[in-house]
Amino acid sequence: MAKEDYEIVIGLEVHCELSTKTKIFCSCPTDFGGEPNTHCCPVCMAMPGALPVLNEKVVEYAVKAGLATNCNIEKNSKNDRKNYFYPDNPKSYQISQFDKPLCYDGFVTIETDKGEKQIRIERIHIEEDAGKLNHDDYGRGSFVDLNRAGVPLIEVVSKPDMRSAIEAESYMRKLKSIFEYIGISDCKMQEGSLRADVNVSVRKKGTEQLGTRTEMKNMNSFRSIVRAINYEAERQIEIIENGGDITQETLRWDDISGKTFSMRDKEDAEDYRYFPEPDLVSIKLSDTYIENIKGNLPELPESRKKRYLEEFGLTEKAANFVTSSKYYSNLFEEAIEICHNPKTVGNLLMSDIARILNEREEEPEDLKFTGKELGELVILIDQGTISSAIAKKVLEELFNEVKMPSDIIQEKGWIQISDEGAIKEIVVKILEANPQSIIDFKAGKSKALGFLVGQAMKETKGKANPQMLNKLFLEELKK
Ligand code: ADP
Ligand code: ZN
Ligand code: MG
Repeated sequence: MAKEDYEIVIGLEVHCELSTKTKIFCSCPTDFGGEPNTHCCPVCMAMPGALPVLNEKVVEYAVKAGLATNCNIEKNSKNDRKNYFYPDNPKSYQISQFDKPLCYDGFVTIETDKGEKQIRIERIHIEEDAGKLNHDDYGRGSFVDLNRAGVPLIEVVSKPDMRSAIEAESYMRKLKSIFEYIGISDCKMQEGSLRADVNVSVRKKGTEQLGTRTEMKNMNSFRSIVRAINYEAERQIEIIENGGDITQETLRWDDISGKTFSMRDKEDAEDYRYFPEPDLVSIKLSDTYIENIKGNLPELPESRKKRYLEEFGLTEKAANFVTSSKYYSNLFEEAIEICHNPKTVGNLLMSDIARILNEREEEPEDLKFTGKELGELVILIDQGTISSAIAKKVLEELFNEVKMPSDIIQEKGWIQISDEGAIKEIVVKILEANPQSIIDFKAGKSKALGFLVGQAMKETKGKANPQMLNKLFLEELKK
């Protein structure tokens, strides 16, 4: 059988660090970085006798996440101990949730080439992050940093509903976008605030039963998630095609070689000997508490999209794009406040801004300029002060340094030439230099006009008003 006869099945376990000020069971700060072991106290260092107290904000943030992803909220929840030994985990257990997660049975909607698709969420639970091991480059050992120990996390477990690397990426992007909109996390993947355990299996198309899966832990870039899924699916198909069986195991994805390596065989859940955490009381939520959080959720991407379609007449594609990130959406709203031209702002975001971000391997949250600059840029285009070619150059500049576009074009001398006299001079000059084009044009080769306009643009470094150039060339050529 060929590769095309198989279907990829993917389920994600997404960990998201919550941006509460303090840790989940003590009052240490959650700030990223810092000198090793400076954000610690007896609780998060696991001193004997130190007792945890649940941070109420963590519950609130997790409930927000659940409501924003269409989950049911568990009114009788609790914490459980998950027992395992690892040097970055000083208690030798992690406080997590087992049979009563705070949120369950939700879904998010993703866009696919076959239309919208729902990816089901099995559960969202709260738990504490572990510390970090820094392995010494000179082989002197490993150093334990507990600054991250006890930073609150939610874990979002999906059903195995994704069927391609692209769908997995869209799902992860959607979660990131929703969590940014509701403000529960900075979702910085490069800092590990958002990461995924990626479960992959394959099965023959048309069959129901799930194949044996492998799991790649702690993936923290979209690019490596996509590459790892495609690599892993191919590896599994090849094994099956050669008559072998897939071993259920945890793999490590290596970004440099582009391959997966075996880490350890998968333990069963029973190995963790989960039991209710005896040092914490259970979590009881009232209807009023939940309703209150629901009532205070900010506007979510779906509703913004609807508004952009109806109020601003954006196309479906533009509305999807602009609302795909809170950062795009806020920038869009700020900019149109200034320039009142939603279409052009949407187009600039979707085309040039997205392209430059992509070239720089950056994400929308890395954008430094604001709606103030973008709005002014669109005004300058609309007034005919600059051409769209110059607008692209101004955008490139804005990525390097945030300045008002009017200042940029002054400094660079990029103001569009719209003075009819000045343009006429250029037109005459170009015609004199290209007599053959005049002959061609008169012989019916309309391409010659394009060539002449191009020459004039070159001469003026893109600053001549193109409509005016066309008009004046035609006038001269028809003489
Ligand atoms: P564990 O917690 O032991 O890793 P779970 O059964 O809770 O295992 O599943 C974890 C994740 O793996 C879920 O996101 C689920 O959708 C996904 N998953 C389970 N079985 C498969 C499979 N056969 N192929 C792909 N993903 C799977
Ligand atoms: Zn602490
Ligand atoms: Mg798992």
